[in-house]
Amino acid sequence: MGKTALRRRCERILSGLDLPDPFGIDELCLQLGEQRGRPIHLIPIELPPGGACGMWASTSDFDAIFYQKNTSSLHQAHIQAHEIGHLICDHSAVSVDGAGAVLLLPGLDPALVRRMMNRRDYTGREEREAEVFASLLLERTSSWTPQRANRPPEAESITHRLIRSLGNGGQATQ
Ligand SMILES: [Zn+2]
Repeated sequence: MGKTALRRRCERILSGLDLPDPFGIDELCLQLGEQRGRPIHLIPIELPPGGACGMWASTSDFDAIFYQKNTSSLHQAHIQAHEIGHLICDHSAVSVDGAGAVLLLPGLDPALVRRMMNRRDYTGREEREAEVFASLLLERTSSWTPQRANRPPEAESITHRLIRSLGNGGQATQ
């Protein structure tokens, strides 16, 4: 799919969501979650520097987008928009219930977890799609304000497993 076709597809998805103009990323996640029948949670987490700054993980009940806590809100917005791009374009998430579960096993070597998180699972085309979507999204969203940390009870366990797997560096905010 070319860049223009991709952009059109993303615009179609966004216009189908009936969002206010401009909209906030939490509104987008809420609407998308309702449409997909699976909530999408945005969860700030302390990720080791120099590695992945975001991750989209899916469980049987919900999707979680983890993003670097220790960076500017502008960068956080970009990370979130990029990961939502992967989700909207139907790329595959780290499945916490499937093979990806090993990523979050307690006691796993943090260095190994980092290596796995940084593994390029997505193809170059998928990365480009996510980037096109992110730029499109960032053009439409209202100015970014620090978001309230979203730690719904159902995401507690996966968040804690991720933090534990990352070793002492990882810490989520409330
Ligand atoms: Zn990506």
